[in-house]
Amino acid sequence: MEVVLSQRGASRWMGGHPWIFQSDVSSPATLAGGEIVRVCDPRGRCLGQAFYSRVSKISLRRLSRDEQPVDEDFFRRRIQAAVQLRRAMLPGESTWRAIHGDADELPGLVVDRYGDYLAVQFLIPAIEQRRELLTRLLVEAFACHGIVNRSDASVRGLEGLPAEKGVIHGSVPETVVMREGQLELAVNLLEGQKTGAFLDQRENHIIAGRYARGRALDCFSYVGGFALQMARRATQVTAIDSSEPACAQIRANVARNKLGNVDVLCANVFDFLRAECDAGKRYDTIVLDPPAFAKNKAARDASLRGYKEINLRAMQLLTPGGYLISSSCSHHIDEEHFEAMLQSAAADARREVQIIERRGAGRDHPVLLALRETRYLKCYVLRVL
Ligand code: SAH
Repeated sequence: MEVVLSQRGASRWMGGHPWIFQSDVSSPATLAGGEIVRVCDPRGRCLGQAFYSRVSKISLRRLSRDEQPVDEDFFRRRIQAAVQLRRAMLPGESTWRAIHGDADELPGLVVDRYGDYLAVQFLIPAIEQRRELLTRLLVEAFACHGIVNRSDASVRGLEGLPAEKGVIHGSVPETVVMREGQLELAVNLLEGQKTGAFLDQRENHIIAGRYARGRALDCFSYVGGFALQMARRATQVTAIDSSEPACAQIRANVARNKLGNVDVLCANVFDFLRAECDAGKRYDTIVLDPPAFAKNKAARDASLRGYKEINLRAMQLLTPGGYLISSSCSHHIDEEHFEAMLQSAAADARREVQIIERRGAGRDHPVLLALRETRYLKCYVLRVL
């Protein structure tokens, strides 16, 4: 099967962008979606191969710039390349994102490894249709005890796919324990958020632990990744999340690591920060790691107001020289927007703010230079004077 790009689409492809949108493709009506197609420029020259999606606004996702056979061995090689990168980069670690979709040249496939267990997301029709093959290749690559399918991410809807989850290979215990630095975190791969944990923040949890001191606050704590690392240095940590199951998991993780200085609060962070400001409270270290407020471009302005509110409050609450570790995982807010928001918060809080580190997702979440969308996580270490 062949699809022909518009001139604009062909320029985009040649410019290195791995996604081609609907408006730049004329595709035969016979394509149902999920096919591997030859991609041609308007003059009929072959530019490579891609996965085709019929429903999605993103019609093509690049697989190769040549015409090599896309068969079982092709997928085996791509999986092996991704896995080898993690093994070399994170020796001795057994929890990492093994496959990061487009950034590992496997569009629509996300695989998180938690020791002997995998959590997998099949996010586009072409990957969904090859689920059995991919599962078999993953079992071959990892000899894992169990695989959970976490294809309940909302992006599946944009591809016309229903939400699904369940165990698709072997068996998976209710909680799986992963190491993070010197600590252990128990997570639930089937019922937890995302694939059980936010592996993209693992390296930042450890960094936050190094900066933490005095009274510390971990806002949007989930299972306590930041709070627990900070508890090793800070005198007192308060972890806040609005989800009761998340708070139960934080408490279990605090107990597991025998930490005596962590309080867990099930509350709305917006209300909590406002009340703490009104009460004149002070903290020495604050982590903000909210969910993606901006789900699309249109929601960006509203979401920036949300980010600003919590960052402004945190700056007001910090003692001079205190650290603010502030994240945003929204694809639609780039570093420039994020820094402008921080500056506006600092101006309203009347505080000088130093940028100490500009961080992103961990190294097991590579960023594709040509695909800004893979640069979604911002994690800034700021010092508030
Ligand atoms: N910091 C975590 C990940 C946070 S994910 C980590 O590093 O692993 C975002 C969390 O914010 C979720 O656990 C969600 O339950 C919580 N949340 C969402 N809105 C909230 C709100 N308004 N107040 C408090 N928690 C909220």
